[in-house]
Amino acid sequence: MKTNILYPQQDKNAVKTAAELILQGEVVGMPTETVYGLAANALDGSAVAKIFHAKGRPQDNPLIVHIADFDQIYELCPAVPPQAKMLAEAFWPGPLTMIVPKNSRIPDEVSCGLDTVGIRLPAHPLARDLIRVAGVPLAAPSANTSGRPSTTTAEHVLRDMEGKIPAILDGGPCGVGVESTVVTLALDPPRLLRPGGVTLEQLRRVLGKVEVDRALFEAIGEDARVSAPGMKYRHYAPKAPVTVVCGNPQKTAEYIKQHVGNADGVLCFDEYRACFPGCVVECFGAQTDLAAQAREVFDRLRAFDDADVRWIWAQCPSDEGLGLAIANRIKKAAGFAVVEV
Ligand code: AMP
Ligand code: MG
Repeated sequence: MKTNILYPQQDKNAVKTAAELILQGEVVGMPTETVYGLAANALDGSAVAKIFHAKGRPQDNPLIVHIADFDQIYELCPAVPPQAKMLAEAFWPGPLTMIVPKNSRIPDEVSCGLDTVGIRLPAHPLARDLIRVAGVPLAAPSANTSGRPSTTTAEHVLRDMEGKIPAILDGGPCGVGVESTVVTLALDPPRLLRPGGVTLEQLRRVLGKVEVDRALFEAIGEDARVSAPGMKYRHYAPKAPVTVVCGNPQKTAEYIKQHVGNADGVLCFDEYRACFPGCVVECFGAQTDLAAQAREVFDRLRAFDDADVRWIWAQCPSDEGLGLAIANRIKKAAGFAVVEV
């Protein structure tokens, strides 16, 4: 299959072409403000099955359903919890996925047998246009091959998906860079399952008590039953193994300097670029610029693959604010091989 890139800025029919493919039961690469998604009609089980095939995604890892207007949630969820409205008012459109009870319109291929579904209203205008023109909600996981870093440009989607999907809608680079925050409203109190663009602190300001799932901080066994099944798989991994060094940035730079080998890679804050001569250095933002780090982290991890490094050493922000999401992605890329200094 040939994979066409559709350019909405030059081709006014780009969104329509993508929507037609969706309605024919095909899978299309879609920009969102977080990362690129692989989108299919969420109400069509056999279309959704093609997403799993293209990604090589484990069959028990459910997909997020994207809607374009809040009221679409009533078509998918039999009892919308009051907290859903509060969260939507505060954070939608935006990088927040809520897990709510699902009705029978959501096929098993989307929810992987769970009685809940994750719903998100994305902020990217092209994503919302595509949902509206197709006239159906879109199931979409991140548009990377399963286990690899997420994709934040159409070119990266093409690298992973060439020949596997018919089209990618090019919306330029993603603004947020890490995937949406996932919070479940099916538990009381609500629980954070994945940190993302909306921070834990922001969620607590709206919901009061919010618990944090242990899978954010430790490796979960392949056979474990977890609240968000996606959390147990190795994720975001470049080809070389990664060791994360956490703590005061000056000390972590010192530790990496002492342990790094010649052909190794270093993922570091901009301030430490010059500290690792002879290494392949990728900087992902200034140490206080969490927004830049979130935008850059996946691209920089992917860049090590082109350099063929033997090992990757990574600095990592602390868990406050957006730092929780960035640190979680880096630790998962490392399979939770973390050194505290
Ligand atoms: P991705 O689309 O690749 O960014 O992954 C979606 C994330 O949301 C995964 O971690 C899923 O396990 C999680 N997720 C999606 N639907 C549900 C659900 N119904 N219950 C719990 N977690 C979910
Ligand atoms: Mg993903």
